[in-house]
Amino acid sequence: MLVTEKEGAVEVTGAGARRSSHGPAEWFTGEVWIDEVGNMPTADPVRALHVHFTPGARTAWHTHPGGQVLYIVDGVGRVQAEGEPVREVRPGDTVHIGAGERHWHGASPERLMSHIAMSGGETTIWHEHVPDEQYLAEAT
Ligand code: MN
Repeated sequence: MLVTEKEGAVEVTGAGARRSSHGPAEWFTGEVWIDEVGNMPTADPVRALHVHFTPGARTAWHTHPGGQVLYIVDGVGRVQAEGEPVREVRPGDTVHIGAGERHWHGASPERLMSHIAMSGGETTIWHEHVPDEQYLAEAT
């Protein structure tokens, strides 16, 4: 479907109605593509994105004022909170990140990874990129 159709209380946005967007270089290292899933129209809106990381690609360090939930859909990924080890994540894993916790997430060095990212509250606050020596630390 190429359009958004509203019939009664149900609105369907077709897969062809939205373009994938390229993850900006100031927020990501490597090749990242983002598909919007949708927004929950609550008082404190929740935004859901399907983010695709190619091998080696990852976010910069950042925080979410309202916290974040990541649901790993495909591949093998890496997640790290500041001061903690790098963790490996796989499809079906859910990662909760507390409000204001500095962290990054991305693909493993050898495999792509995609996750659904759900974040509430204000927009993400971006910090510096994750250098290779930090990204390539042994994952637990
Ligand atoms: Mn995050």
